[in-house]
Amino acid sequence: MQVQTETDWVSRFADDVIAEAERRAPGKPIVCASGLSPSGPVHLGNLREVMTPHLVADEIRRRGHDVVHLLSWDDFDRFRKVPVGVDPAWAEHIGKPLTSVPAPEGSEYPNWAEHFKAPMVKALAELGIEYRGVSQTEMYTSGAYRDQVLLAVRERAAIDAVLDRYRTKDKPATEQDDEEQYFPYKPYCSVCDRDMTTVTSYDDETTELSYTCVCGHAETVLLSEHTRGKLVWKVDWPMRWAYEGVVFEPSGVDHTSPGSSFVVGGQIVREVFGGKQPIGPMYAFVGISGMAKMSSSKGGVPTPGDALEIMEAPLVRWLYARRKPNQSFKVAFDQEVQRTYDEWDALERKLADGTAVAVDALAHDRAVRTAAGPLPSTPIPIAYRTLASIVDITTGDPEQTLRIVRDLDPERQVASLDEVRPRLDRAAHWITNQVPLDQRTRVREHADVELIQSLDEQQRESLRLLTQGLDTHWSLDGLTDLVYGVPKDQAGLPRDTKPTPELKVAQRTFFALLYRLLVGVETGPRLPTLLLAVGADRVRKLLSD
Ligand SMILES: [Zn+2]
Repeated sequence: MQVQTETDWVSRFADDVIAEAERRAPGKPIVCASGLSPSGPVHLGNLREVMTPHLVADEIRRRGHDVVHLLSWDDFDRFRKVPVGVDPAWAEHIGKPLTSVPAPEGSEYPNWAEHFKAPMVKALAELGIEYRGVSQTEMYTSGAYRDQVLLAVRERAAIDAVLDRYRTKDKPATEQDDEEQYFPYKPYCSVCDRDMTTVTSYDDETTELSYTCVCGHAETVLLSEHTRGKLVWKVDWPMRWAYEGVVFEPSGVDHTSPGSSFVVGGQIVREVFGGKQPIGPMYAFVGISGMAKMSSSKGGVPTPGDALEIMEAPLVRWLYARRKPNQSFKVAFDQEVQRTYDEWDALERKLADGTAVAVDALAHDRAVRTAAGPLPSTPIPIAYRTLASIVDITTGDPEQTLRIVRDLDPERQVASLDEVRPRLDRAAHWITNQVPLDQRTRVREHADVELIQSLDEQQRESLRLLTQGLDTHWSLDGLTDLVYGVPKDQAGLPRDTKPTPELKVAQRTFFALLYRLLVGVETGPRLPTLLLAVGADRVRKLLSD
């Protein structure tokens, strides 16, 4: 199989990053980085921030290089606003570092940041994403950045000059006059712990820094010893590029504009910190389709954990691996998830028979394993839509489910439901939590006698042919042949007849009749699955008066 690196974005970035790391820091571990803010539930869209460097780092690791994926938790950032659904009393914590804000009520975690980090940490583990988490609270409060902080403050005029290149020039003069002297370090008040502080003086010789706070507190500290404060974001980010020697770090499309933190950071890292900007692709927005309101996690945003409840980890990885970072896409929580799974199964069939295109094979490979090994998979991957239909009809009863799963293909030996897990569990979660009740299947309790009695002889004959054939066709393939075959039999055509427009109409009409008799509406799960799930005896009862 020929590998087309020119079309595989992961390989291409890995090539670039390895070459660049060789130029910048030969012999040192290659550093890829991501940053996440645990200011609330981490949105599924932000997974791209981690997945992009993960895939590149993993490729680099597969090639045998020493590589580290740093994940910065921006947990020393200020608490900006109280999200909907949280006690409004939390407003008193606005301005404090996220690690100093109490966790929402009922949480088992010690603070706000840890509370929102935890589900993401769990999701990343399930996704097979290896990283080194870096708490910015720990870094700042331990004094790890002391030299960088002192340097940035010493060079504040240079930083101000960089920022000035992007400031809007047409601001009213009075506003400019009112501007405070630029200072890139923000202390958290030692009394109220909020960042509503103003630096009133700074002595470069002694590093004596005086600030006042809106709470009334005023204090003079030594910046050379101070650890309760942080660099402002536009300085903080490039400082970390230099400190950590980051070679690869993506950023969202909102960072493309002139004056954005990525652009400004590129100049600050060079002019102030003597470092280099990472190779940093802009990644496009990841949207969500059809997330049911009822199951969006507290906070009302879909998280990676939500996606992992309806999709196996390799599928989630695949969504990101198969598209270049600059391509936007949607993660489906609605009926489309079934199509995602169909596409995945089709790709696996192509891989099995050797007809997959190289770039698709690579994306698949990145989805199912990492350098550390394969991710858990479902031993017998029955079609997701089939599993969803089975759970829909059986409401998840394990005995019935196993019976139906076995009937799907009598040749395939399914010893226990564990062999169709975890895919079964994901499909079950999806149908139960994401599919609205009016789209769920309800098998009729009793035959629709009135409808049956209103049928003409030909229609009754079609039901007879179907019920007579059930036992000899009792498998997914067999019943598929039967339901398509009955209209052929009635038209006197051999079973292998290619569908004509007339035949298609007859089949559609027959299917609609079956749906009405079985589930009371004209559509539903695929008929062969529905018949298997309902069971032969009950089908016979529902199709006769
Ligand atoms: Zn204060």
